[in-house]
Amino acid sequence: MQNKKVTIILLTLLFVAFLLSGCASGIQLSEHTAANRNFYQIFVGSFYDSDGDGLGDLRGITHKLDYLNNPSGKDTLGVRGIWLSPINPSPTYHKYDVTDYYSIDPAFGTMEDFEELIAEANKRGIDIIIDLVLNHTSSQHPWFLAALDEIRNDKEPFYRDFYNFTETRSGSGYYPTVGGLFYEAHFWSEMPDLNMDNENLRAEIADIAKFWLDKGVAGFRLDAVMHIYRSEAQNLEFWSWFVDVCKEVKDDVFLVGEVWSNEMTIMPYFETGLSLFNFPFANHDGTINKAVSSGNGERLAQEIERYAAEIYRRSPSGINCVFLSNHDTGRSAGFLIEPEKKKLAAAIYLMIPGNPFIYYGEEIGMTGAGIDENKRTAMFWSNTDKTGITRNPHNTTNNRTPEFGVSEQFDDPDSLLSYYRQILALKSKHPDIFDGRVTWLNVENSGICAIQTGDVVVMHNLTDESIEVALPVSGVKMSGFLSPTGEVAKLSGDMIFIPPYATAVLG
Ligand code: CA
Repeated sequence: MQNKKVTIILLTLLFVAFLLSGCASGIQLSEHTAANRNFYQIFVGSFYDSDGDGLGDLRGITHKLDYLNNPSGKDTLGVRGIWLSPINPSPTYHKYDVTDYYSIDPAFGTMEDFEELIAEANKRGIDIIIDLVLNHTSSQHPWFLAALDEIRNDKEPFYRDFYNFTETRSGSGYYPTVGGLFYEAHFWSEMPDLNMDNENLRAEIADIAKFWLDKGVAGFRLDAVMHIYRSEAQNLEFWSWFVDVCKEVKDDVFLVGEVWSNEMTIMPYFETGLSLFNFPFANHDGTINKAVSSGNGERLAQEIERYAAEIYRRSPSGINCVFLSNHDTGRSAGFLIEPEKKKLAAAIYLMIPGNPFIYYGEEIGMTGAGIDENKRTAMFWSNTDKTGITRNPHNTTNNRTPEFGVSEQFDDPDSLLSYYRQILALKSKHPDIFDGRVTWLNVENSGICAIQTGDVVVMHNLTDESIEVALPVSGVKMSGFLSPTGEVAKLSGDMIFIPPYATAVLG
């Protein structure tokens, strides 16, 4: 009798374990593609220091992968993609000026560390994309040094043609160099611009892309996309070529470009096959913060629909990459002051169809504005345990940390971090929310942002008062809701009640 009981208990436990393992490896991690993912942007030097030298590194990121996605769901954020800021060797702390496209900056670790990071990330269903900076190299790159040597010693030009040397200064962004020549360097004298008309250079670029895709990256975040040439037509030709190069290696490659400009300038780049960051929605003067400040949800929903439709018209596979802030903008906690508005804005951008990008520390309300270094300060893991916390970039004048670190916020169900986790958990029940097609639903109340993707309806109340409206779609059920005030959202008949700043998901 006793034995039979034990057997039944053991079998039950085995069955539960089987179910759990099915959830972890079968259901949750099955779809391995970087399309349809919540991404997390890591500024590598400021994330987690694994060896105590004060600088964030690749092993540090591997060490914190469970924070980003632990399939058990415990103490995890639940993102499935990472964008790493540049990891190639570079003389600067930000590393947007590369000296070798084929290796890892020793300050961040080794190629083995990178391979381990990719493998461990993939185990957790996380894809990695790396920053690829193709507009320019470092002035210390061997190509540029060889080019100067060719000019100086009157050698047959090879690397000289990788760059743009001119005999006269062709406007700003040109700097004098050897042989009485000038070279183009749009951003900084130490970042000479590459000449993508050169076939040998294009062959190198193709090799670089293949090298990293073969290493297992899911794709690239592409820097300074609109600056490769001074003409848009030439830029579009270059990026179409680059998309083809990458797709030949990896059919489902995810390529997201930085065109830091207005919608009119961004949109044509979708036609190359790239996906693009949504700068018009980001930052203190962007669509999302304007809507949160004004409380006008209806206009926001219309904008979400219009922007998505414009992408789809240009490129049905184009992905809307929404974010609130990144390493170049002031952090969002600096303009979303009230805790309820931080939570509302998070629910809005993370539920817009596409691949949203969380800038590291945004989920715990880190602040930082002004000089770039202030926007890239140390990830604040804990108020008491300083293990792994990096030093801030040199020159930082921002010594503010959030009131509570990651570990304290995990223990607080009302924290911003807990809210981020709730949003992503609710979203994970509805893969339709990632789908790019989105419709504005008119609920005849300007405070409500109501959108539909597939069979899912997302409704945000952007005001500080509860709102009750008629359901925009019949037959839907409440799947879940998020409420910064703790007040409950309710369906009753064909009416829905949404508390202040809250979000309801129906499906
Ligand atoms: Ca380190």
